[in-house]
Amino acid sequence: MNPTGNGAGASFIEPARELAVIDEADVIVVGGGPGGFGAAISAARNGASAVVLERFGALGGTWTYGILSAIMTNTSVRGIFTEFQREMERRGGWRWWTEGDPSSGGNYDSEVAKVVLDEMASHAGVRIYYFAQVTHVFKSEDGRRITGVVIQSKEGRHVVTGKIFVDSSGDGDVGALAGVPYELGRNGDHALQPMSMIFKLDNIDTARAEAYLQTDLNCLRAWQEAKSLGEVTVPREDVLLQPMPKPGQWQFNATRLLGYDGTKLRDVSAATTEGRRQVAQIAAFMRNRIPGFEKAIVAETAPHVGVRETRRIRCDYTMTSDDIRQARKHPDAIARGNWWIDIHNPEGEGIAAEEGGVITQHDGNKLGPAYGDWYEIPYRSVTARGLDNLLIASRCLDSTHAAHAAVRASQQVCAIGEGVGAAAAQAVARKLATVREVDIREVQERLRQAGALI
Ligand SMILES: Cc1cc2nc3c(=O)[nH]c(=O)nc-3n(C[C@H](O)[C@H](O)[C@H](O)COP(=O)(O)OP(=O)(O)OC[C@H]3O[C@@H](n4cnc5c(N)ncnc54)[C@H](O)[C@@H]3O)c2cc1C
Repeated sequence: MNPTGNGAGASFIEPARELAVIDEADVIVVGGGPGGFGAAISAARNGASAVVLERFGALGGTWTYGILSAIMTNTSVRGIFTEFQREMERRGGWRWWTEGDPSSGGNYDSEVAKVVLDEMASHAGVRIYYFAQVTHVFKSEDGRRITGVVIQSKEGRHVVTGKIFVDSSGDGDVGALAGVPYELGRNGDHALQPMSMIFKLDNIDTARAEAYLQTDLNCLRAWQEAKSLGEVTVPREDVLLQPMPKPGQWQFNATRLLGYDGTKLRDVSAATTEGRRQVAQIAAFMRNRIPGFEKAIVAETAPHVGVRETRRIRCDYTMTSDDIRQARKHPDAIARGNWWIDIHNPEGEGIAAEEGGVITQHDGNKLGPAYGDWYEIPYRSVTARGLDNLLIASRCLDSTHAAHAAVRASQQVCAIGEGVGAAAAQAVARKLATVREVDIREVQERLRQAGALI
């Protein structure tokens, strides 16, 4: 994890020092995104003590620090995610795309989400440490168990110990720090999906904007014209935009940041700068060319650039595109998904085929289960290889580049977390020697009782 660059090969030796243990719990969840949120609440509701260690200042990950603001329609997930949705709606922070359809996606307010996520976690009894980045892991002498993780905070470095550890860092930090093998990007050149900096514009005349978009979906015509004149240089084919619950506010998932690796210090820095440059360019395009947006001002850019894909931690089973395309079911399923193989092209515009090249610029050719059908996420794809007490509840579970592009949908990741949390709680309650001894049938039954689809 050493950044490369202008250090001229110089290095310093850090003196050994004693680190105090500041907390311990049955289940330690690293990262409080959709996966970590689901895992911590589920572990706590199933009787375990649970701690979340989060490097930023809110739960939600891409939901909040990435200000995602849109969660897609999905027929395969209920449980904790649906509770979150309903609570968001109750507080005016969620707008359904199809009223009365519990599978419907919607747009949400990320500030309301921060409060709802905090409260749901606190009510479940989860202890949260914000601004606590995990930087190191300690392992048992035989190397098979993680015994503690080191957090870096303003107070220095401390250790948090636990019985079961859950990697929900998105980037697979815990797995990588523990020496579990991982994969990066697609086969061959290891290219990763592009990052995007989500942003919001305020001051929009929504009625006029919606009327215009009826005639020019995703601003495609205006965008292509502006691109041909060199007014915009963003390597995307159109502008994905949606009205927010807040009147006059719209969200944009329209930047495309190519060639960056979210686990590299210099890449994340450069992507952040380039993301803001693209935001300014898109905002100017909207003001100049799209009716209803003439007075638009940038209300917010994501505090953290959105990272779609980084490490995929090797576990006991690698999910493949066949699992997704054939809507495969598994006896040890812990969650369902029905999102398709959605590979944002690592090289430029459009959606990429598994083997490279662009398959479609829009929503034709979607590769995944039919509406209402689903694939299942097996428990074996979250049991980290070579370790007895590390589970993955995050987009970094074991999958190919293509399968990852489907599984990563945020509500599915939340459901995977819910499954992982229930399994972790059982492993603690039964003092199991390894997470591989968990009785998955019983976990599935608990998940069903809690309202999850399994
Ligand atoms: C631009 C973009 C658009 C997307 N669009 C959609 C969409 O429209 N609908 C949808 O459903 N999904 C969408 N996704 C996918 C979805 O948001 C992610 O796959 C999902 O959030 C992954 O959840 P996660 O919990 O694994 O990781 P994340 O959401 O990345 O959360 C990881 C958390 O771990 C924390 N963390 C990381 N490292 C450490 C560490 N070392 N120590 C402590 N904490 C750490 C992070 O701060 C973060 O809070 C999008 C993703 C991106 C990036």
